Amino acid sequence: MNTYESIIKNLYRIGKMAETDKKVLDALSEPKNIIDVVFPVKMDDGKIRIFHGYRVQHNNWRGPYKGGIRYHQNVDLDEVKSLAFWMTIKCAVLDIPFGGGKGGVLVNPKELSKKELENLTRAFVRAIHKSIGPEKDIPAPDVNTTPEIMDWIADEYSKLVGKDSPAVVTGKPVEKGGSLGRGGATGAGGFCVLENLIKKLTETTETKSRKRDLVSVAIQGFGNAGQQIAKLCDKAGYQVIAVSDSKGGILAISNPESRIPKLNVEDLVKYKQQSGSVVGFSKTENITNAELLELDCDVLIPAALENQITEENANKIKAKVILELANGPVTPEADGILKNRGIHVAPDVLANAGGVTVSYFEWYQNIHNERWTEKEVNDKLKEKITDAFNKVWEIARPDARSGSPSEPEAPRRKPLCSENLTCREAAYFLALKRLEESYLLFRWD
Ligand code: GLU
Repeated sequence: MNTYESIIKNLYRIGKMAETDKKVLDALSEPKNIIDVVFPVKMDDGKIRIFHGYRVQHNNWRGPYKGGIRYHQNVDLDEVKSLAFWMTIKCAVLDIPFGGGKGGVLVNPKELSKKELENLTRAFVRAIHKSIGPEKDIPAPDVNTTPEIMDWIADEYSKLVGKDSPAVVTGKPVEKGGSLGRGGATGAGGFCVLENLIKKLTETTETKSRKRDLVSVAIQGFGNAGQQIAKLCDKAGYQVIAVSDSKGGILAISNPESRIPKLNVEDLVKYKQQSGSVVGFSKTENITNAELLELDCDVLIPAALENQITEENANKIKAKVILELANGPVTPEADGILKNRGIHVAPDVLANAGGVTVSYFEWYQNIHNERWTEKEVNDKLKEKITDAFNKVWEIARPDARSGSPSEPEAPRRKPLCSENLTCREAAYFLALKRLEESYLLFRWD
């Protein structure tokens, strides 16, 4: 079964628990549009190379399609469809007025010069520009795509439509209409979810209260989001013991001064910038990406690609909490195993939603010609993430209602089964209720 088939199977399973109208589930089981393009790009040697790209528009009941564009040599349609689906769920969980979409180009961007990367980006925009727009479909950064690439997208699109249209894309550089706080938003949102989850777990009898300086963290992936969360965890006093990137992983070696060996995150970020990888950083031993996932740690943060924790290794995971900063790092099959083992998963559709939340703030500022301060952005982000977290938690644990009494309640679920839901099941439950509401309101069929 491919990734998309297995997430749709899971959608029907949760939809049944949430008593979602079958018409809604059927409509969500396929993307609304698949734009599949082959386009020519001029390379530095003067030759033309042909590239293949996709834009999948999964759903727009709640607002324009929204989601990043990734550049990766292994991009395929199954992956882009899955990522677009997760965006629909994510925007609904956060109650952002967007639907879900995603784009991908099959390319290893590390093999291209900067000029070639710009030519590729502009050529891709020319190929898809009729399908995107500030009220239609709004791309953003994803794996291997940067604020500079977003600026090329906005510029090329604006030229094609004959008017300045910064709101066609988010994640732009701040001086080109981007929002303050967008660069750090995925990590900040993830950290907020982690803090909320640890607080809830330590409030209950499930996990004994632990001091932060005893909470060990391992992070798979040291790109933008991985680096941000490493810095935030380190600053708050967690012990970041291991990290990895596509070239391999490193584990801190014990030293007599610290009880748990930990990495010097600030120096590691500089080291990665200079050497291109975390591998070889001082006072560490080399480990593989697979070994990192199975380390004895409290919190595991997959921040790279999908399908990392599968039925093959789910039984070997030792972490107590998994925070999904990547999209889809835990397969539905692995989810079941982790649930039975009592491992808590903060799901991608909540844990990495900080990025799209601040993308919404950026789009809003562009449309209304406003400029918010970094503090305003960060405060609003924290509020949005905490609100979504609390609603998800209330659905997952109906007996442990939280939040202030004045807050609107999360949709109630009938006690269909006595067991608690996982946070992923609860997040989907919340998203499906909201998607069903818009479906019924606008009679989309
Ligand atoms: N690519 C990010 C994600 O998967 C951000 C999407 C956006 O900002 O639209 O959530």
